[in-house]
Amino acid sequence: MAATLIDGKAIAREIREGLKARCAALAARGVTPGLAVVLVGEDAASQIYVRNKERACKATGIRSVAVRLPADTTQEALEDKIRALNDDATVDGILVQLPLPAGLDERRVLALIRPEKDVDGFHVQSMGALVTGAAGFLSCTPKGCLELIRRTGVPLAGKEAVVVGRSNIVGKPMAALLLRENATVTVCHSRTKDLARVCAGADILVAAIGRAKFITGDMIKPGAVVIDVGINRLEDGRVVGDVDFASAEPVAGFLTPVPGGVGPMTIAMLLENTLESAEKRA
Ligand code: NDP
Repeated sequence: MAATLIDGKAIAREIREGLKARCAALAARGVTPGLAVVLVGEDAASQIYVRNKERACKATGIRSVAVRLPADTTQEALEDKIRALNDDATVDGILVQLPLPAGLDERRVLALIRPEKDVDGFHVQSMGALVTGAAGFLSCTPKGCLELIRRTGVPLAGKEAVVVGRSNIVGKPMAALLLRENATVTVCHSRTKDLARVCAGADILVAAIGRAKFITGDMIKPGAVVIDVGINRLEDGRVVGDVDFASAEPVAGFLTPVPGGVGPMTIAMLLENTLESAEKRA
């Protein structure tokens, strides 16, 4: 039987409608949530991501504060800008679009963002909070993935969950979130031996690798929930995930498409985090 597709686009739309109503309620109390989006340089993909985020803010009722800085911005100037945004009471969330141009210290910049405004959840304090179970913003992509898993109705406690990828922005926080939900979690990476065997034992499989169609149907346990985080552009211009959809679909129980799976959820979670920050301010 073919997998049930998890329609991230529709779920994100529904979530965003709810956020719109919450934004309107805040506006009635005289508070407009504000998200500062900092883009340094001219990277084409980053410009598209930033534009999409700004558009989503507008559609929800969140004021987006566009901060565009030239590629030759110094570390000091960028840090000054972050400090100013930290001190701006009308800014509830600060997002620095990654990657930064070569020469800028990403770690130092992210560490400067006040954790109360760290709506991307990349600050070490936010990551530490996730791992220790304290309150803090969850990074948007893993948070969105978890919501997609929840929507399948498959309970996580006691399940074998495998995350392929260990980046700070997806793989590691995803694994921590699944652990928090009482799954038994295995994290795989480029040096994992016999990846196919490990994946084939997963009830929940999250692929965050950055390699087109890398996870094939024979690596998937029949009936598994498969979340495809990957965004890979093929030479012919098509965008595909890290999971080979054609061979995965007949095997998986639930599967996210690319595009239209995890991507829209990432933005919805960013908006949600920003709104939560504004609600705390109000
Ligand atoms: P990174 O490049 O930072 O991390 C990739 C991870 O995959 C690394 O941990 C790497 O292992 C692992 N990996 C690479 N090759 C293999 C292999 N052959 N076998 C097993 N593991 C391997 O990527 P990100 O985490 O930032 O992103 C992953 C994908 O998700 C990308 O396609 C990205 O575009 C997409 N993405 C999508 C988002 C969305 O909203 N949908 C948001 C963020 C990312 P090692 O650590 O050993 O090098």
